[in-house]
Amino acid sequence: MGCGCGKLSSWVGEPAGGRGGMGGGRGVEDLAARYPYSHWGSKLIAELGVEDLDGYTLDEGMLKRVLERFSSDNPDPERVEFSVDYLNPSNEVVAYLVGMGFLVYSRLPEYAKMRLGSRLFNWLSVRTGELLKTEEPRIVSELLSVDFSLPNVIWEDGKIVVGLTDFLRMSHMWESRLRLVELPIHRGKLILDGKSAPLVASQLCFSRLNQILEEKLRLSGPGGPRTRPSWVDALEAEVSKLVPRSWEELGGEGVLPRVAEEYPPCMKEIMAQMAKGLEPPHFARFAFAAFMRMIGAPKEETLKAFSTTSDYKENIASYHIAHIYGEIGSHTAYTAPSCDTLKTARLCPVEGYCNPKAKHPVTVYKINLRKDINSNRRGATQSRETLNTDTKP
Ligand code: SF4
Repeated sequence: MGCGCGKLSSWVGEPAGGRGGMGGGRGVEDLAARYPYSHWGSKLIAELGVEDLDGYTLDEGMLKRVLERFSSDNPDPERVEFSVDYLNPSNEVVAYLVGMGFLVYSRLPEYAKMRLGSRLFNWLSVRTGELLKTEEPRIVSELLSVDFSLPNVIWEDGKIVVGLTDFLRMSHMWESRLRLVELPIHRGKLILDGKSAPLVASQLCFSRLNQILEEKLRLSGPGGPRTRPSWVDALEAEVSKLVPRSWEELGGEGVLPRVAEEYPPCMKEIMAQMAKGLEPPHFARFAFAAFMRMIGAPKEETLKAFSTTSDYKENIASYHIAHIYGEIGSHTAYTAPSCDTLKTARLCPVEGYCNPKAKHPVTVYKINLRKDINSNRRGATQSRETLNTDTKP
């Protein structure tokens, strides 16, 4: 909860907090509890010496805390806001480390980890947005500049001003809750007030958490970490109950032929981003490659779609695709994420669902294919009828 001494609605030209500053009048411990992924969180983690949680024993309270973060695609904003443990701030940073560590060390299928990661990041970003509504403007500014890497955050007439290109670089333009046209943009700058700043920060928080996970996965190497702490096993037994274990559980059937025009909007969007030379986040690339595998695309074609991204490296992309196709590593052929997972990961570009029966992108693709085949049949029948009429004497 905010201290009540500096609501955003009362912003009046205060200077932005300096890099690594102390976040207004609030103590570092409180700030670490509220924003455990932030530089305040890192400071508390270093003080406590719990960076790698080696030898850590998961107690029942922490298990419950972490499971709550992994349980819901749409967490209740009020509930997440009130869940900050101010009496024991270390609980919050440890819960964050356990959640993030689980995503790195767990041996659950990739799509399950991705879904859980999206839930965790959604939970943390929703909470960030809620807490920032009552936060001192100085703290919002410090979070944006220090933790969300917005280099030129400035104050102007009582508003926070952010470069639009800096914002887009951080958010990857994948946001479904925030639409660019609805943002207060003026001459290439985002002008943020007490209402829009928490929304933008919440979006950037989600992107930043994905980046942190990607960095951790990259550091652990292509095959993942060789050893893993024992608390991961205890958590895995519980967490695996929260996600479907197979494509069949998602309601899927078999593999299909390919017609790119009939891909669902989410997959078309990822393809379009790659074709423009942008760098979709790890999860988007995973989702696309797994989707392509499921509909029967050869690896070479999937690789070709990746080849236009600006950070393309053939050996790395080939490795990841072969992994998703189940040819190397654990030899598990990966399933594309469901619609709900893609929504939680903010990779669904439509309001609601693109089809009343949408549950999984492959299901939507099947529906689209069926429609396409039927309309082709109708078209062919009509052509035949026209031909018959035309050729009648
Ligand atoms: S509803 Fe599902 S299939 Fe349709 S665009 Fe969204 S995630 Fe993709």
